[in-house]
Amino acid sequence: MTTDSPNSEGFFGEFGGQYLPEELKQIMNDIYRAYLDIRDTEAFTTELHELQNHYVGRPSPVYFCRRLSQHLGGAEIYLKREDLNHTGAHKINHCLGEALLARHMGKTKVLAETGAGQHGVALAAACALVGIPCEIHMGEIDVAKQAPNVLRMKLMGATVIPVSRGTRTLKDAVDSAFEEYLRDPQNFFYAIGSVVGPHPFPQMVRDFQKIVGIEARKQFQEMTGALPDQLVACVGGGSNAIGLFTAFLDDQDVAIVGVEPSGLGLDTPDHAATLTLGSPGVLHGMRCYVLQDEQGEPLPVYSIASGLDYPGVGPQHSYLKEIGRVRYETATDQDCLDAFQMLSRYEGIIPALESSHALAYAIRVAPQMAGKRILINLSGRGDKDIDFVAEKLKL
Ligand SMILES: *Cc1c(COP(=O)(O)O)cnc(C)c1O
Repeated sequence: MTTDSPNSEGFFGEFGGQYLPEELKQIMNDIYRAYLDIRDTEAFTTELHELQNHYVGRPSPVYFCRRLSQHLGGAEIYLKREDLNHTGAHKINHCLGEALLARHMGKTKVLAETGAGQHGVALAAACALVGIPCEIHMGEIDVAKQAPNVLRMKLMGATVIPVSRGTRTLKDAVDSAFEEYLRDPQNFFYAIGSVVGPHPFPQMVRDFQKIVGIEARKQFQEMTGALPDQLVACVGGGSNAIGLFTAFLDDQDVAIVGVEPSGLGLDTPDHAATLTLGSPGVLHGMRCYVLQDEQGEPLPVYSIASGLDYPGVGPQHSYLKEIGRVRYETATDQDCLDAFQMLSRYEGIIPALESSHALAYAIRVAPQMAGKRILINLSGRGDKDIDFVAEKLKL
């Protein structure tokens, strides 16, 4: 159950499903059928595999952090280098899969929202490559804050729609993109950016991401002759985490930890620790852990890493928490900034602020884990974050 598909209604245990109007359920089921039709065909697997190798640059290396490990004086720290992928993060793995599926289904436009622009850039690249029109909805405030990513999307041929309603940020961009999608869901494809949303997206996005763990398991064994003692990954919606975890879920001796952002502290409203402090509810077409108020409305969330501030989380993570296979921990903004600097100084690798949450947890526990090996998913590179960090640290 942990590594397999969800049940026929799209549930992992009590989580997942399709909390949607009947018409949209039909469309989701069409997408699932199309996915099952092509996923094991020679043509699809060959094309995806070639693009993964020659376009994304897979396999990404597993790297042993010698200096950082020495400095911490306990466990050996290893990184799965998803930061080295084309476009700088793990997101290209599922965007490519989604773009290929949309083209296979004859869709005329791929749509999505983006916050900081990372999902938008990865999707724009995948759509340029596959040759399908791409439309990205983005809050006006984010458009102003993330000018380089807006330029990247435009250069790669995507249409960027600035959203001027409400808070003019991610939440309104989601509503705007979804409204556009509802104008013609037969012909449009809504490319969800993580292992969230209605079935089949949590399963499909996971399947496109599980290459991360399949590679890492083999690479790690070749390097060390053993499996890691512990895996660590940051969790926003949960795609990079489930991507690393899936290949190891049946390895009972491998401890698995997902790290959520506790922001300014779990005792403040400024965090996005959904699995740590949330409760089961319904959000964006799925049942999952949600940070919600008494009425079931999602609470405002916050993280220093914009890729992690989501009030829900993937249904499979909700299930893995429930059955105790994965432990979910937290790291604060300050932990994250410290880890960001430590990896930069000791290894010459600037991590994304999102990934720095996973690093922060490993840095915390490594000194007490002498003789053990920790494998961290370095989900993205930090180039996008350096201006912000320089300001924070007064560099
Ligand atoms: C978007 C993003 C994340 C968070 O998304 P998940 O679906 O939880 O993986 C993490 N790391 C990076 C670098 C990102 O861009």
